[in-house]
Amino acid sequence: MNYISTRGQAPHLGFEETMLTGLARDGGLYVPDTIPAMSQDEIAALAGVSYEEAAFRVMRPFLDEMMPEADLRACIARAYAPFGHDARAPLVQLAPGHFLAELFHGPTLAFKDFAMQLIGQLFQYSMKRKGSRITIVGATSGDTGSAAIEAFRGLDAVDVFILFPNGRVSEVQRRQMTTAPEANVHALALDGDFDDCQAAVKDMFNDFAFRDAVGLTAVNSINWARVLAQVVYYFTSAVALGAPHRPVDFTVPTGNFGDIFAGHIAKRMGLPIGQLVVATNRNDILHRTLETGRHEKQGVAPTISPSMDIQVSSNFERALFEAYDRDGAAVAQLMDELKAQGGFPVSQGALQALRETYASGRASEDETGATIRDIAARTGETLCPHSAVGVKVAQEHLTERPMVTLATAHPAKFPDAVEAATGRRPALPKRMADLYERPERVTETPNDLAALQRLIKERRTS
Ligand SMILES: *Cc1c(COP(=O)(O)O)cnc(C)c1O
Repeated sequence: MNYISTRGQAPHLGFEETMLTGLARDGGLYVPDTIPAMSQDEIAALAGVSYEEAAFRVMRPFLDEMMPEADLRACIARAYAPFGHDARAPLVQLAPGHFLAELFHGPTLAFKDFAMQLIGQLFQYSMKRKGSRITIVGATSGDTGSAAIEAFRGLDAVDVFILFPNGRVSEVQRRQMTTAPEANVHALALDGDFDDCQAAVKDMFNDFAFRDAVGLTAVNSINWARVLAQVVYYFTSAVALGAPHRPVDFTVPTGNFGDIFAGHIAKRMGLPIGQLVVATNRNDILHRTLETGRHEKQGVAPTISPSMDIQVSSNFERALFEAYDRDGAAVAQLMDELKAQGGFPVSQGALQALRETYASGRASEDETGATIRDIAARTGETLCPHSAVGVKVAQEHLTERPMVTLATAHPAKFPDAVEAATGRRPALPKRMADLYERPERVTETPNDLAALQRLIKERRTS
């Protein structure tokens, strides 16, 4: 299968190179040139199979000739073995017709583990075969960095360096990054804020000599392989609720639009999805775009659902590409306008196409807290603030079809917000109960590019 850029000017690549490249050379995002379909029978046959088997059947057509079937199965098995629940993505019922897909049973207690654990295995496989090594460098405000460290720890073809703003991540998030004992894991506490971390990573990528010298690679949320891994739980959830014989709706707590775009891919593959609902917190650029037809940046307001605090939503470019009938030149122009003027109007035709695919809603801080409290009282289920944003918006979109809200993080990852809402502090799962006792290993670094580059060159394990 070929992958093409949303801006139309980059070389077409196969799956493996798309995964290793991340961002296309024209600044665009890679998408498959055709979406493989699953027949009704193939979808129906997913009922009752393991998550791993479903993952194999759903992803296989996208991976092309990258690897033999047995090797893909082995990568999938290793990726999901560390999860703390045999179903991997279990459903629980919140109310008549309303279900929660718990995507937080991975090693770092957030849905990002589904994608990161798999691409860890795929990168390792690819490097082994090529006989080369890579250095993953990423900036994080918390969840992505810990998921990357968990996914790459101990893999011998990969070093992983994660920059986080010193003193500005939660204690659980910090400990998840600093307690991995493996020598290929390097947690760097940068003297600065998240934007400084991101800027440092960007500067390293723009230093081509350095980039080539260390085999620099990114695993951020625009990586197509991450989107693909997230398609799977739409299938397993919908099939458990009666698909393909009856359609199912989904509501997705959204930031960078990767997770919900995976839902769109599932639908295009033939899964009968009714509504796909974008749920935002007060950083609501996506909800405003769908309401008004104008895509416009505003400042970021901090919320109790910080993983959705975004100003621009990077994967939304993929949705625009579809809405503009895959016109790369049109998308490139919109992105230039966004950069130069901070926004752009969506054309009538594209807006109509977006509204046919996505519904949307927004939850305020008060509504988020009230939803955590209300659901705990009515069902005993404790929601994290991100999942609560989803549940609140889902409640406004219930129909006669089953609704699945994606629960994106474990409540114990955001204990302060949950305690403020319910009066009870959520406990970490047993397998992580000793997190607060594990020794930490972290390097404090100045916000200085040359010093960072020196450190990365010295610390790499080969
Ligand atoms: C990353 C994240 C989101 C947003 O997901 P996107 O794919 O960026 O839209 C929502 N909730 C949690 C807990 C996250 O970590």
